[in-house]
Amino acid sequence: MSVYLDYNASAPIDNDVLNRMIEVYRTTIGNPDSRTHDFGDNARSIVEEARKRVAELLSVDSTEVYFTSGATESNNIAIQGLQEYSLSSGKNHIITTAIEHKAVLETVKHMAQIGFEVDIVAPDISGRVSAESITKRVKPNTLLVSVMHVNNETGIIQPVKEIGEYLSDKDVLFHIDATQSCGKLVKELKNIKYNMLSFSAHKMGGPQGIGVLVMRKNNGKRLPVNPIAYGGQQENGIRPGTVPVALVAGCGESCRLALMNYEEINVHSKQIKGMILKEIDKSGLEYQIVGDQEYCIDSTLNVALLGISSEALMLSSKLYCGISNGSACTSKSYSPSYVLKSMGIPDDIISSSIRISWGKNTDLEETKRNIKELLNTAYKMIH
Ligand code: PMP
Repeated sequence: MSVYLDYNASAPIDNDVLNRMIEVYRTTIGNPDSRTHDFGDNARSIVEEARKRVAELLSVDSTEVYFTSGATESNNIAIQGLQEYSLSSGKNHIITTAIEHKAVLETVKHMAQIGFEVDIVAPDISGRVSAESITKRVKPNTLLVSVMHVNNETGIIQPVKEIGEYLSDKDVLFHIDATQSCGKLVKELKNIKYNMLSFSAHKMGGPQGIGVLVMRKNNGKRLPVNPIAYGGQQENGIRPGTVPVALVAGCGESCRLALMNYEEINVHSKQIKGMILKEIDKSGLEYQIVGDQEYCIDSTLNVALLGISSEALMLSSKLYCGISNGSACTSKSYSPSYVLKSMGIPDDIISSSIRISWGKNTDLEETKRNIKELLNTAYKMIH
């Protein structure tokens, strides 16, 4: 059977999360914003309970947690929601990086089209943008800096702690896309000074279609972020639309489990990475690891198997492993990864690179067997 090694695209739903959701679907009727009966009150208490679980994981106040449909929507609100504030403050400069997920990059490009001044900072070959390359671009009219915590294609951790420190006494908003780090780099996230944070529950054992935007209060005041869609007053007017109780409950449960188990899961992930690296090393293939491993998360490996087309390899080894060669959002048709390209990696290396990502449910022995088969397949392709 093929082993699933594409957790960065979407991780399997955790059993406890699923059970909690089924229980909520079975037992909870009503709209959490209904105030005229117990059904609404019950649904609302489930939502508020889940909000607390998210807040605990991130060490923020639960009034700073807003449920959305996922990181894409959270990123859009964090960026597009600043348009009115830009007009009133006269600030219209945005800084971001060339390795962001499309949910940030395309939003920022849209902002450029409507008149914002945008700086897109490239990483170096390590897969990291330097903190200095971001901070040196900050100007009096800088409105927002948006930098991801961990890149989804390379697993490389970005210097958001240093950037946050620098920005903390400046009148500049700092947004981090923590979709690939939330529930994994739990301690690190607690120590980052940010104003806004986005994540999706499905990267950490929660259901698809639910995410969070955290907006830290500033001296007890909400950030000057406006909704980008209009309707009801749900989620304090930031995200209109009926709050999906069971999805929210699943998101809360995934946060509770992450807080309880992340250290153990990180050890497990590290073991799997060690095993995969060892197998690659033993395979007789020439390879190049993508990104500086000193800064890489334990649950991702991006590696170029030199001389091998990743497209051909993925097709030939489908029976063994479900891997990818880039972000699921851009992988419908093959074009060289913009993330790897921005790192200055040559096209022939990009076209031979594969992304392997795993997590809590990945079985070490099964993965070892199947990775060996994948590497054998690769070996046969060039010998
Ligand atoms: N940001 C990052 C870093 C991601 O990896 C993803 C998902 N690939 C997203 C944002 C978007 O998440 P979603 O598709 O759940 O909205």
